[in-house]
Amino acid sequence: MAFDYDLFVIGGGSGGVRAARIAAAEGGARVGLAEESRMGGTCVIRGCVPKKLMVYASGFPKTFAEARAFGWDVDTPRFEWRKFRGALEAELNRLEAAYRNTLKTAGVVIHDTRAVLEDAHTVRLATGERFSTKHVLIATGGWPFVPSVPGAEFGVTSNEMFHLRDLPGRALIVGGGYIASEFACILNGFGVRVTQFYRGPQILRGFDDEARDHVAAGMISHGIDIRCMTDVRRLEKTDDGIRVTLLDGGEAEFDLVLFACGRRPNVAGMGLEALGVGIGDKGQIVVDEWSQTAVPSIYAVGDVTGTLNLTPIAIREGHAFADTVFRGVPVRADHDLVPSTVFTQPELGTVGLTEAEVRALGPVQIYTTSFRPMRSGFAGMADKVLMKLVVCVDTRKVLGCHIVGPEAGEMIQLAAIAVKMGATKEDFDRTVAVHPTMAEELVTMRKPVRA
Ligand code: NDP
Repeated sequence: MAFDYDLFVIGGGSGGVRAARIAAAEGGARVGLAEESRMGGTCVIRGCVPKKLMVYASGFPKTFAEARAFGWDVDTPRFEWRKFRGALEAELNRLEAAYRNTLKTAGVVIHDTRAVLEDAHTVRLATGERFSTKHVLIATGGWPFVPSVPGAEFGVTSNEMFHLRDLPGRALIVGGGYIASEFACILNGFGVRVTQFYRGPQILRGFDDEARDHVAAGMISHGIDIRCMTDVRRLEKTDDGIRVTLLDGGEAEFDLVLFACGRRPNVAGMGLEALGVGIGDKGQIVVDEWSQTAVPSIYAVGDVTGTLNLTPIAIREGHAFADTVFRGVPVRADHDLVPSTVFTQPELGTVGLTEAEVRALGPVQIYTTSFRPMRSGFAGMADKVLMKLVVCVDTRKVLGCHIVGPEAGEMIQLAAIAVKMGATKEDFDRTVAVHPTMAEELVTMRKPVRA
């Protein structure tokens, strides 16, 4: 049977765009792609990219303070949110156009509309058009989850954070994960009075405990009011803002409430279950190691599969899928030892196992150091860097590396190469330090602090 397309991709985010491009440009496939929102998806339009630009923008007050200590005369600097927001929008427009061009150059046909599946080989667009296709790739990502508390509609999600008309005076962030903690720091840097509610004992659950404590202490020292073991019971609109009732009955008022309580796979209304595509307990599309669903012609990559919600993972999965299915080169995306960074202030970079995780596996040695970095130390700031290595006693391999401090994301990327290669503590030790840097502490920790 002749199909209209060899591949139809639903979702123009990181995973879908990569798969479409490789299948078309390198696999010679006839590819269609539908995107109902803006090309680029969560990462480019409402996630990593605008977030990182906001992290940069919000970091300047600290830079100005440091500049003064280094002898610079910095007059009262002033931040204009709307000016920044305009520049941000222009940058996102540029990136979106670049994504479109890349796809067009590769020969991918873009459909700017919503697509759903009618059967295992038929895609129906919101325009009414239907296309037959040999393969389907679902790369529809995720969507913010908002807890069903009364008045939740008065809150916003990360989607709205890039379009605020004005910055709030007082903000409440609900949640303790990546997005909550990053936005707490961003708003705090902009001069917003920030309160963060987290329902558990410490923010950033899942990361190394010592690193979590270090990040939280840094955030608190920068003025963020982190309240753990707390949650929202109700929201009400008042003349002055949003009144929040806490679980214990207490009340507080804010101008903005951000729900950053996780994200859910974006599969609603796509007709997947009826086709026999497996859906997991968190709403994710169930796939095997080749990104294939229970329906052989239907594949899925990225956040919609709920594996590791990180852009580079979606890209790798999309690329591996295209290599396997359209280039005849079987590739499985590697989900082992994936480094990541939480762009809080201070930043947290991590790769490998946490101290708690390895303790369950066998004897380990913990190397850790905490110090004031030269730059902010000179400026009289109390900020401290944390470097931590988790080492297996038997193999001497570094099983985990955790860094909290400025540019931790840049440092962990490089440390992750060594960890991925199976470097031992002795390999770290025989590497000469680059002096004076923060990262040199990674190769100069001589004695374990705990065994
Ligand atoms: P996370 O899973 O990181 O955090 C969700 C937070 O919300 C947790 O603290 C969770 O608490 C809390 N929560 C969940 N449900 C409720 C509820 N009903 N009431 C109150 N609190 C609740 O999700 P995010 O939304 O922060 O981010 C989504 C994903 O996107 C991340 O997992 C990450 O993979 C990715 N991401 C990556 C970034 C990066 O690489 N820098 C940046 C942003 C996002 P608990 O811990 O108790 O479950």
